[in-house]
Amino acid sequence: MSVHSKLYEGKAKIIYSTEDPEILLADFKDDATAFNAQKRGSITGKGNMNCIISSKLFQELESLGVKTHYVDSLKPNQMRVKAVKIVPIEVVVRNIAAGSLCQQTGLPLGTALKQPLVEFYYKNDQLGDPLLTRDRILLLELAKPEQVDEITHLALQINQFLIGFFQRCDITLVDFKLEFGLDSQQQILLADEISPDTCRLWDTSAANDPDRRVLDKDRFRRDMGNVENAYQEVLNRVLKAVETNNN
Ligand code: UDP
Repeated sequence: MSVHSKLYEGKAKIIYSTEDPEILLADFKDDATAFNAQKRGSITGKGNMNCIISSKLFQELESLGVKTHYVDSLKPNQMRVKAVKIVPIEVVVRNIAAGSLCQQTGLPLGTALKQPLVEFYYKNDQLGDPLLTRDRILLLELAKPEQVDEITHLALQINQFLIGFFQRCDITLVDFKLEFGLDSQQQILLADEISPDTCRLWDTSAANDPDRRVLDKDRFRRDMGNVENAYQEVLNRVLKAVETNNN
């Protein structure tokens, strides 16, 4: 496969064109950023680990009928994806209160939500990814009303799958962020990645230990140490769960 030019370099991935205009190559980097890129660093092996975790989760979702941008993965840190126009909305689903939900509402960290909460944030670094309302999405024409409905439905469906999948990994899915894109037929596909960079994942068997339970990017954000080990642990458990599922 010949790779042509670098189309875009984001905080965690580089996107290259391929010989097929419908297919792009996503190259996952070890670079890590937090707090709107005010904190920068590197997590050794993260590119490989996030790409493999995301590939496995996309494959599992595809087998359940959820359409994703995933095509295949020929190298550990590279994923071939369908070219989509990214909807500039970060869709966050929460099962347990953490992060900005606690900061903005006063809900104590770890509060189990009675039902999953779906939130939308404007994918706009200059504005600091502000929280959106449905009416603001329509006002800014970021998506059409029926697209907002479909994205909400998909986000909840993906949440149900991920809760169950991670349960089998002895991991509690606290919250996560999704991005969606439109393909050339205007179909909505799940895009970007699902990884410890974009999910809060707590080790269920260490649920009451606020340090040991954290298996995600919060270890980097909050300088908790053992970042690589946490990502590796998630990868190992995901691979084991996929293997058991397929046998
Ligand atoms: N998240 C993400 N990218 C972002 C913002 C959030 O992947 O730009 C993920 C984050 O890892 C967490 C969830 O979305 O799993 C909810 O994040 P929150 O709004 O609590 O933001 P934060 O605590 O990162 O400020």
